Amino acid sequence: MAEALDRFPNSLWAKTAAAMDASPSLVEDISCDVTIVGAGFTGLRAALALAEAGSRVVVIDAGDVGWGASGRTGGQVNPMLPFNGPDQLQKLLGPTYFERLTDVSLNSADELFALIRRYNIDCDARQHGWLRVDHCQKVREVSWRNAQNWNRFGAGMTQVTGPELLRLSGSPAYQSGILAPKGGAVQPMSLVRGLARASLEAGAQIFGRTAALRLEQSGGPWTVHTQGGRIRSEWVILATNGYSDGLLSGLSRTVMPLVSIQIATDPLSEAQIGAILPDGQTISDTRRVIMYARREPGNQMVFGGMGRQLPSGEIIGFDWLVRDATRIFPRLANVQWKYRWGGCIALTEDRLPHLHEPKKGLIAGLGYNGRGVAMSHVMGRVLAERVLGARPESLPFPISSVRRMPFRSVQMMGMGTAVWWMRLQDRLEVSHG
Ligand SMILES: Cc1cc2nc3c(=O)[nH]c(=O)nc-3n(C[C@H](O)[C@H](O)[C@H](O)COP(=O)(O)OP(=O)(O)OC[C@H]3O[C@@H](n4cnc5c(N)ncnc54)[C@H](O)[C@@H]3O)c2cc1C
Repeated sequence: MAEALDRFPNSLWAKTAAAMDASPSLVEDISCDVTIVGAGFTGLRAALALAEAGSRVVVIDAGDVGWGASGRTGGQVNPMLPFNGPDQLQKLLGPTYFERLTDVSLNSADELFALIRRYNIDCDARQHGWLRVDHCQKVREVSWRNAQNWNRFGAGMTQVTGPELLRLSGSPAYQSGILAPKGGAVQPMSLVRGLARASLEAGAQIFGRTAALRLEQSGGPWTVHTQGGRIRSEWVILATNGYSDGLLSGLSRTVMPLVSIQIATDPLSEAQIGAILPDGQTISDTRRVIMYARREPGNQMVFGGMGRQLPSGEIIGFDWLVRDATRIFPRLANVQWKYRWGGCIALTEDRLPHLHEPKKGLIAGLGYNGRGVAMSHVMGRVLAERVLGARPESLPFPISSVRRMPFRSVQMMGMGTAVWWMRLQDRLEVSHG
C-alpha cells in the first residue's frame, strides 16, 4: 500500500481512508471477458456492474486503487454538469440527448448515495446539500435565473441570501448563492476502496502497479500488454480520465489536464472552526479560479482551488490557497494547513463527458470537467451496460469520435498566465461587489 500512496503522501484522504492492502501486480498471461484500464471511480463502477452480471473482469492500474483523481478529489458530490443553465446544453446536444443527460446528471448524486448504501460502503457519505455561492453581485441574478431554469427539470434548488447564507456558510465573503439539496460529500479514498472491495467480492480481479503499455487487436479479441504479462479479452474499457497516456492514440489529447489542489487541517477546536458550514453542506463559488471547501465530521477543514504542475512534476499554488482560505473564512487565519495535495481534472472542449468507441470491443469514458465524483459513476455504469449489449443509440451519452482538442498545446503552455489573468478578473469583480 505504501508504494501506491507515496505519490501523494500529504493527502488527508490517504491518511484517514479505510485501510486496504495493495493490489498484487500482474505477473503472468491471463484471459477474461473485459479488461479495464484505470482503477478509479469510472473503472471500478464498471467492474462492479460487469462482475455482478457474471462477466470475468480484470482491472489494472499503473498506480493502485484510487491513485488517480478518485483518491485525491475534493469529494464533493455535485449533481450537475458544469453548465450554468440548460439552454446552452440543449443547443449543444439536441432534444434527445439533452433529456437523457439532464436526467442522469441531476439524478447522479442520488444514484451514487444509493450505491453506497447498497454496498454498505463506509466513506462518511452525507447528502446535506451543496452551496454554490456568488462571488459578486453581478452574477447573483443570472445564477438564480439559471437555477430556476434547472428547477424545471427537477433540480430543486433554492436561493439563499443575507443572514441565512452567512449562517449556512460561516463566511462573510458572500451575499447570495444557491442551495442544491441533492449535493453532498464522501471520503473519496474510502469510497474508491469500498468499490474495489465490492468488485473483488463480485469476482473481479484487480492488479496494481500494472501499466497497460500497448493495445493490440488480433481478429476479434484484444490483448493488453503489461510488463508482467498479457491480458486477452473480448472488450477493453479505458477509464483513465486526466491520467490518459499514449495507450490509445489521441485519447489524451481529447482532454486538457488541469491541476486542482487542496489543503486540510487536523481536527480543529470548536473555538477555531466556530460556525463554518454548521449544517454540513459543501461549498464552492462562481469565480473563474474556483474555491471549494467542506467541513469534516471531526471538525477538519478542507479547502480547494486551482494549482499548477511544473515540468518537474512538482505541484505548486498552496500558498495562494492558504491566503484564499483565510480571506473566505477569516477565523481560519491562524490554523495549520498540515495536508497539501493535488491531482488532475480532465477538461473537454464542450465541457461534456465523452464516451468513445473507436473500434469494436474498445470503449472509453472520460472528461468530467471537475464534476466527476457523481458523473464518473454514471459513466462506469453506462460503459458496463454497453459491454453487456445495450445499443449505442440507447445510451445517455452520445458516442463521439476521438478528436483532438483544438489549441490544446497552446492552452496548456499559457495556463500559468491564464490562471493569473482569471484570478485578477475575479479579484476586480469581488472588490467592486
Ligand atoms: C484535486 C481534485 C479535486 C476534485 N474535486 C472534485 C469534486 O469535489 N467534485 C467532483 O465532482 N469532481 C472533482 N474532481 C474530479 C473527479 O475526482 C474525477 O472526475 C474522477 O475522480 C475521475 O475518476 P476516473 O475513475 O475517471 O479517473 P481517475 O480516478 O483519475 O483514474 C484514472 C486511473 O487510470 C490509471 N491509468 C492511466 N493510464 C494508465 C495505463 N496506461 N495503465 C494503467 N493505468 C492507467 C491512473 O493510474 C489512474 O489511477 C476533482 C479532481 C481532482 C484531481
